Amino acid sequence: MIIEDRPREYLERRVRAGLLEQNTVDLLRQLDVGERLDREGLVHDGIYLRREGRTQHIEIAKLTGRHVTIYGQQEVVKDLIAARLQRGGELHFEVSDVSVHDVESERPRISYSAGGSEHELECDFIAGCDGFHGICRPSIPSNLRTEYEYTYPFGWLGILAEAAPATDELIYAWHEHGFALYTMRSSKISRLYLQVPVDEELERWSDERIWAELQVRLASEGWRVNEGPILEKGITPMRTFVCEPMRHGRLFLAGDAAHIVPPTGAKGLNLAVNDVRLLAAAFAAWYRNGSAAGLDRYSDTALRRVWRAQDFSNYMTQLLHDLGGGAYESRLQLARLEYLSLSEAAATSLAENYAGLPARDDF
Ligand SMILES: Cc1cc2nc3c(=O)[nH]c(=O)nc-3n(C[C@H](O)[C@H](O)[C@H](O)COP(=O)(O)OP(=O)(O)OC[C@H]3O[C@@H](n4cnc5c(N)ncnc54)[C@H](O)[C@@H]3O)c2cc1C
Repeated sequence: MIIEDRPREYLERRVRAGLLEQNTVDLLRQLDVGERLDREGLVHDGIYLRREGRTQHIEIAKLTGRHVTIYGQQEVVKDLIAARLQRGGELHFEVSDVSVHDVESERPRISYSAGGSEHELECDFIAGCDGFHGICRPSIPSNLRTEYEYTYPFGWLGILAEAAPATDELIYAWHEHGFALYTMRSSKISRLYLQVPVDEELERWSDERIWAELQVRLASEGWRVNEGPILEKGITPMRTFVCEPMRHGRLFLAGDAAHIVPPTGAKGLNLAVNDVRLLAAAFAAWYRNGSAAGLDRYSDTALRRVWRAQDFSNYMTQLLHDLGGGAYESRLQLARLEYLSLSEAAATSLAENYAGLPARDDF
């Protein structure tokens, strides 16, 4: 049974991640929820890295045999909600006052309010998939969890614009003013980001200023960013966080409830999907043959990919952003970017991390 504190319409409209790793696409297909994704998703063979007007294509498909697919997180959520309801699963929206109890016992409970009355649910297990600000992680006693955390001194100003993308694949741009990213949601909608100071005020960025800065940071000779009406804009802080372990008794954390990464590596949504892939298999084994082995391994196994993604997301962030280290640091970044264009081994390392290492039972 799933309980969710937001309305369905809100979840189906909330624009967040948009890049699916090969593993995520494969899993959605296996679950028979990949039909619209196959029809509407944009399959990409690589990404572009741009610096000082020069563009390099990292050929992910050629180097790894794997692809990435552009398909909005809200579309994945729509497909999963529809499938869950169609298959007769229980899914309750707009619940409130959620709390978990007795997670160290064999009968953990969830209490919540819905439709004006109080409810209590007795469970075999609780999957805490309630995001970074949810209640599950804080319900683990603080002396039993270790938290690793780092906040970058910058954020991303992101826009969603009604403008056909002027690029067929994502462009990650290094620029002395700071990082910029050109991505898209469809053949008609662009999503673009600018690195801004962590305490930046959105009011300081008129639509004109945003487009002008995007044209500067993404510049390449004879090419321009396509402009259009801005549908949404906002500033997201850049943070990294891991909570260990991801299990306490019969409570299992998954996704942002346990870890977040800076979005530069496009890993947040994909990591959440990987956690539930491992957790679902462990639950299935427990119900099928009473084996607790998968549940006992869950935290260690999930954390292996979490830390791989932490490392890669931080590598991409440090490669491309102005980290405040001055001219010496910029020269190092340019040398690293050049290395990616000189060495197939370096490009392959980036490509296999970006596409996501193949899913395994132990990773
Ligand atoms: C603005 C923004 C942009 C992002 N862009 C990217 C990107 O480009 N690429 C990328 O990979 N990742 C991106 N992410 C991260 C990505 O969206 C998350 O990693 C992903 O949503 C994690 O999924 P989740 O299910 O763990 O958590 P969530 O998607 O946060 O889902 C948790 C759910 O739990 C519900 N909930 C919370 N508390 C309770 C409660 N007490 N009771 C019941 N329900 C509760 C919430 O309403 C929510 O629906 C972005 C995130 C944000 C905020």
